[in-house]
Amino acid sequence: MTEAQEVPAALAVELTELLGNRFSQAAAVRGHHSAGEGWDNPVLPAAVCFPETTEEVAALAEACAGAAVPIVPFGAGSSLEAHVVPPPTGISVDLTRMNAIIDVSEGDLDCHVQAGVTREQLETHLNKRGIFFPVDPGADATLGGMVATGASGTTTVRYGAMRENVLGLTVVLADGRIIRTGGRARKSSAGYDLTRLFIASEGTLGIITEVRLRLRGIPEAISAAVCQFDTVADVVNSVIEAIQIELPLARSELVDAVQMSAFIEHEGLDEFEPKPTLMLEFHGSEEGVREQAEAMAAICSSHGGADFRWVTKQEDRTRLWRARHRAYYAVMAMAPGKKAMITDACVPISRLAECIEETRADLERTGLLSPIVGHIGDGNFHCQILCAPDDDAEIAACRSFVGRLAERAIAMGGTCTGEHGVGANKIDYVEQEYGPAVDVMRSIKRALDPQNVMNPGKVLRF
Ligand SMILES: Cc1cc2nc3c(=O)[nH]c(=O)nc-3n(C[C@H](O)[C@H](O)[C@H](O)COP(=O)(O)OP(=O)(O)OC[C@H]3O[C@@H](n4cnc5c(N)ncnc54)[C@H](O)[C@@H]3O)c2cc1C
Repeated sequence: MTEAQEVPAALAVELTELLGNRFSQAAAVRGHHSAGEGWDNPVLPAAVCFPETTEEVAALAEACAGAAVPIVPFGAGSSLEAHVVPPPTGISVDLTRMNAIIDVSEGDLDCHVQAGVTREQLETHLNKRGIFFPVDPGADATLGGMVATGASGTTTVRYGAMRENVLGLTVVLADGRIIRTGGRARKSSAGYDLTRLFIASEGTLGIITEVRLRLRGIPEAISAAVCQFDTVADVVNSVIEAIQIELPLARSELVDAVQMSAFIEHEGLDEFEPKPTLMLEFHGSEEGVREQAEAMAAICSSHGGADFRWVTKQEDRTRLWRARHRAYYAVMAMAPGKKAMITDACVPISRLAECIEETRADLERTGLLSPIVGHIGDGNFHCQILCAPDDDAEIAACRSFVGRLAERAIAMGGTCTGEHGVGANKIDYVEQEYGPAVDVMRSIKRALDPQNVMNPGKVLRF
């Protein structure tokens, strides 16, 4: 663990006056903010701040800018690409005390929350009103972190990612200015779209303190289905055909044979075989979901899918999706003592089968063990490579596999990350993906953060 440098004395006094004991230099607190969930080399921040209001965030940002001390916004710390690893002089700004649900409008289907509210807190609050927020990255992330990483999940194929579901933001800029972006109107042609500028900005342009979100009504009927195939290509081609005929799939998840074995062994899904599998969910009226399931069963069968199982009972659905959400733990149980290096890529769906097949061949050539699961309606898939934390050669092999996957996706017209983000680890691939457009990103960064104090070393080289 890299040791931190001390907070300049005058700044420490100013932040203590502002926040009292919510400004902490305690080793344990700093340790908790030294890394996310990935293979980061942890670095202790010099201190951690726990603001409770936008005004406190503005005051601390102004003070840090005055001392040219870097700031790293911190939500739940569930990001995977060294997003929250601070520079040794940096101050981590933990938003989790900003967890008020300010307003929910059932009539307008929108809500206004502080950035530290977590996805599960919001879900609990909304569900009793018959409404929900559809973006679910799996982890109990904060809404601010989900905006900052451009998160998405299993229902994105139907409801969109954060980009489609954020109506507006309150943001504190590097110099302490507070701005409000977007609004509650469902459309606007008034000026530059600053809301989307901050989505996936990973704390490099400002600190998001409040978020306005679009909500949905819980559908009258929800059902699930599972179908198994001989090849990944058959799974992908079934979903492509469903999308082409505008079948409104609410979830369409590819689970490959390796992940399916883990589910059978560790999640009790022993009624299935270790084969490429499609997990589906349908939302709508009772009649609508039945029609969708029937149409999808016919499509799957035409691509060699066997024994299409339509699941209508809530407990059976819960069992299936609980297994899918526990994919990480099921795979970890396959190789006790190993750790997972998780990566994602996204390609146009017409190239998805080819990209996954090349990736599987790459894993076999290198002798690495990884399942492949994917939100295939979006062309997005994940590898969770099992790696011994004390085996430098295996770590190096995993890292070069991750690099090849990013390059493969870019070469197929895709992206080095569909939803996990860039952090410190994928900066080179962003350069490859966008070329000269990265200079324009740099100009934006320079305009908003000329001293490079906002989460330096992430997204792009400055
Ligand atoms: C097992 C596992 C599975 C995952 N699966 C998915 C998945 O399916 N889809 C997906 O999208 N992600 C997934 N993730 C990644 C992660 O959960 C998301 O990136 C999540 O959105 C991060 O939110 P957080 O609150 O944890 O943010 P953090 O990790 O705390 O921060 C992430 C980044 O956002 C910045 N940030 C945080 N809060 C703010 C703020 N208020 N203002 C400005 N910047 C801020 C940070 O500086 C950092 O750069 C997974 C992670 C794990 C561990």
